[in-house]
Amino acid sequence: MLGYNRCMPELPEVETIRRGLETHLTGRRILRVRVRETRLRRPLNPRKLRALVTGRRVRGIRRRAKYLILDLEPADHLLVHLGMTGQLFIGHPGRPPVPHEHVVFDLDDENTLRFADTRRFGLLEPVLDGDLERHPLLRGLGPEPLGNGLDPAVMREKTRRLRKPIKNFLLDSRAIAGVGNIYSCEALFRARIHPALQLRRMDEQRWRVLISELRRVLRQAVKRGGTTLQDFVNAEGEAGYFQMQLRVYDRQGEPCTVCATPIRCVVQAGRSTYFCPHCQTRRPRSAVFTKRGTPGNRARPLRASGTAARLRHLRTMGVRDSR
Ligand SMILES: [Zn+2]
Repeated sequence: MLGYNRCMPELPEVETIRRGLETHLTGRRILRVRVRETRLRRPLNPRKLRALVTGRRVRGIRRRAKYLILDLEPADHLLVHLGMTGQLFIGHPGRPPVPHEHVVFDLDDENTLRFADTRRFGLLEPVLDGDLERHPLLRGLGPEPLGNGLDPAVMREKTRRLRKPIKNFLLDSRAIAGVGNIYSCEALFRARIHPALQLRRMDEQRWRVLISELRRVLRQAVKRGGTTLQDFVNAEGEAGYFQMQLRVYDRQGEPCTVCATPIRCVVQAGRSTYFCPHCQTRRPRSAVFTKRGTPGNRARPLRASGTAARLRHLRTMGVRDSR
């Protein structure tokens, strides 16, 4: 069934779509474009679009944050964002149009590339060669969480004077590109960091753990084809993704998978944050699991008990120790 999504596609969903489209699109020539609706997030100029893509071959498809970039021969681009309900997928010959199908590209293998978007927060924009890097939508984006641009020492230095909770920072695409709400919540839980922790209290070690957990959770989600988000549709237009197991997101009141404390939900920067008030702390990590420990536990060195607790935490979540 097609309708609108409760949540917008996040980075892993967009990456999954990119991978799905790559094999179908690379090397294909666009023969014709049909535009049925121009009122997208930014108005679409059909004349410009036709002039840029007609007769051009697709060199490949990239992702930057949550944008998809179709590279055309010899050097121009088509920039696509799915907004909240956008779908970009391959329609095989004879496949009837889906509702709200706004743009259709006829390909030289008789397939079509289709863009549908119920709520029209998505966009489709022709970009000339050389204009991509300074495009207003891409210019200010922070480093890719799955790339090599996220360094704990650099992040610590960048944020040591900022007065802002860590969760709000993770949602800011100028800080880190395209992490999104679900994966911010999940990474903070896995790193055992309280979402309201002030950035200046994020030392290098906390950054190291958070970056590593952020990458791990995003990679896991990409591997499983993005999290199921109601009517989300993959590159071939098939609804229904493999549901990734979420530990805190959308689990308010349910027991934490590590300590059974009910998961809490608060609103930060206008978005729901889910977290475990016991596992995720603002205090130094080594002190966390001694709180409810026996006197015997307390006698052990703090550092050792912190490490042991962390390993136990990871094992409970089915993560094998990689150190
Ligand atoms: Zn917990």
